[in-house]
Amino acid sequence: MTSLEFHRHLNLQAKGVAERDAILANPGFCDFMTDHMVDICWSEKGGWHRPRIQPYGPIELDPAAAVLHYGQEIFEGLKAYRHADGSIWTFRPDANARRFQASAARMSLPELPVEYFLESLKALISVDGDWVPSEPDTSLYLRPFMFGKEAFLGVRPAKKIAFYVIAGPAGPYFTGGVAPVNIWLSENYSRAGKGGTGAAKTGGNYAASLIAQNEAYANGCQQVLFLDSTTNTFIEELGGMNVVLVYKDGSLVTPLSDSILPGITRDSVLVLAEELGHKVTRRPVTIQEWREGAESGEIVEAFACGTAAMVTPIGQIKAKDFTIGSADAVAGELTLSLRAALADIQYGRSEDTHGWMYRLDG
Ligand SMILES: *Cc1c(COP(=O)(O)O)cnc(C)c1O
Repeated sequence: MTSLEFHRHLNLQAKGVAERDAILANPGFCDFMTDHMVDICWSEKGGWHRPRIQPYGPIELDPAAAVLHYGQEIFEGLKAYRHADGSIWTFRPDANARRFQASAARMSLPELPVEYFLESLKALISVDGDWVPSEPDTSLYLRPFMFGKEAFLGVRPAKKIAFYVIAGPAGPYFTGGVAPVNIWLSENYSRAGKGGTGAAKTGGNYAASLIAQNEAYANGCQQVLFLDSTTNTFIEELGGMNVVLVYKDGSLVTPLSDSILPGITRDSVLVLAEELGHKVTRRPVTIQEWREGAESGEIVEAFACGTAAMVTPIGQIKAKDFTIGSADAVAGELTLSLRAALADIQYGRSEDTHGWMYRLDG
């Protein structure tokens, strides 16, 4: 297969215009999914085959399918943005495609060629493009994922694999808009360990984070911050977002560790910050440094970043025995300007000087 010829099976029960528009007016975050999904099979003998567009709906799996028992699964998350002229674009999908390959390698899954990843996104938009909303700060969230579907209970990499892309319209991830989020410091649970799967976008990392996320909710926080599992002193990331600290001299620091998911939002924001003259450093950072820096005034802002919530200011960090920052913290100035600069590129309001935007329609 060089270029994919998708077999199209259109959804005869696709939502009507009025119903779809009502959903797009108030989408939540993927509370509803579009009418179709893309699916490509892989087998050890046949490689990638049978690319299809089909009606969105349940997947039939053998109860012994590998993913249901041993969690052999990876995913990606990116967004389709509607520009003022009606065209539909996504942001750095080649980076998502390469990260999907890296996650696949770590989880002993086959690597989907970058072109197939991109063509799959375009194929879905070719049938569900009308699902891309046009209100400010809305998008169509795209979710490619892959898993072992071979039926067997022995432990080894599956020889039959499924790849899908599904999508759902999305408003802001945090309902508070750009209000700062409060974060719970997880001291009892780690997200990932040395030599583990922390740098792969795989469901198991999220499964491992849920108990700490529940602790966060119980303590009035929306997100959880994880420390390194070896020494419990270095900050890593949130359950699904990277962290960046802003120092009073205007420099930015983000944790360096091989158990952190290398975020494309973080990378992009740091590129923009460097272009604005800010020094950017990737190095290990302890929670102690954050605590003391916030108290002394050395650290003046902190933000979380990821595709879903984009750039979100961090308000207070709460831990069992201490807090960082005040309960009435407001969004930082640099945080908000970086968020705006990124959004302007993604929504086509400013020039894409980096070649980051990729057209999905037409
Ligand atoms: C997806 C993800 C991120 C953010 O990555 P982006 O490419 O910016 O969306 C950060 N941390 C984790 C654990 C993730 O799964």
